[in-house]
Amino acid sequence: MRRRSKIDKKILDGFLTRETSFLMAEEVKALVGTMRISVEQLVEQLLPWAAEKAIVPASRFKVGAVSRGSSGNLYLGANIEFKDMPVYTTIHAEQASIANAVSHGETGIKALSVTAPPCGMCRQFLSELNTSAEMKIQVGNTEAVLLPQLLPRGFGPDNLDVRFKLMDEVSKGFSFKNPTDDELANKALEAANKSHSPYTLSHAGIAVKTRNGQTFIGHYLENAAYNPSMLPLQAGLSNLVMAGRNFAEISDVVLVHGQDASVNHVEAAQSLLRSISSVPLRVYKAE
Ligand SMILES: [Zn+2]
Repeated sequence: MRRRSKIDKKILDGFLTRETSFLMAEEVKALVGTMRISVEQLVEQLLPWAAEKAIVPASRFKVGAVSRGSSGNLYLGANIEFKDMPVYTTIHAEQASIANAVSHGETGIKALSVTAPPCGMCRQFLSELNTSAEMKIQVGNTEAVLLPQLLPRGFGPDNLDVRFKLMDEVSKGFSFKNPTDDELANKALEAANKSHSPYTLSHAGIAVKTRNGQTFIGHYLENAAYNPSMLPLQAGLSNLVMAGRNFAEISDVVLVHGQDASVNHVEAAQSLLRSISSVPLRVYKAE
C-alpha cells in the first residue's frame, strides 16, 4: 500500500505544475484511471498542493481546499492574507476554491474538501450556493458530511425569499452606455454580468491583467449575511494566485460596477489594490 502511494505521488508530481489551479473532468478521469484511485483519493492528494499556494504573512497557517464541480472539474483554493491590511480582507481557502470555480463557469458544487474544519464564515459563505443542501464537506480524510449538518438552522437566501442562488446561471444584462474596445473592461463587464448580488443589487466584476498577458476575472459573490461576501478584487486576486502568478506581475486592473449599486466597490478595491500594487484601478460603470 505504501509502495503504491509513492508511485501515485510521482504521477501527480509529473502532472501538476505551479500554474495548475484546476483540473478538467477529462484530466480527473485520466488521472484516477492511471493512478488506480478514486476521485476522493485524488482530491485528498491535491489538498497539500492547494495549501502550498497559500499566502499567510500573518497567521503562518496554510489551508488548502478542493471543490468538485457538477461538471466533474476540480478547483483548487488556498487562504490569502494581505500584509498590513485589516483581517477582514483575508480570503479563506474555501472562498478561493469557489471563486476559482465561478470564474471557470462552473454551475454547481457537489463536494468540497479542505485541510482544516471550515470556519463559521465559510459555512455561511457556502450556504449561498445553489447546491448547498446536498453538497458534501470533507475535512482531510475524515468522513464527509452534508453542509446543513455543519450549519444547522442556518440563515440563507430562503430566509430572505431570494430565488437565485450562487452559481445559478442568470445574466444581469449590464452593458456600457458607450461600448468600448477596451478588452479588459469588457472582461470585467462579463464578470459583473455573472456576479451574484441578489440582496443589494450591487453587481460588479473585475479583470486583472498580468505582464505575461494573462487575464484573471473576479466576481462579486454576495452573501445573505453580507459580511462573508467575497469582493470582486478578492476573487480576481485569488484566481491569479491559484494560477501560480504573483501580485508583482499585475499590469492592469479594471473594475466594472452597476450604476445604481448601493455597495461601494470602488473604495474597497482601491484600498486592497494599493496594498499589493502601484497599478491604479480603472473603473467603469455599467447600466
Ligand atoms: Zn473559513
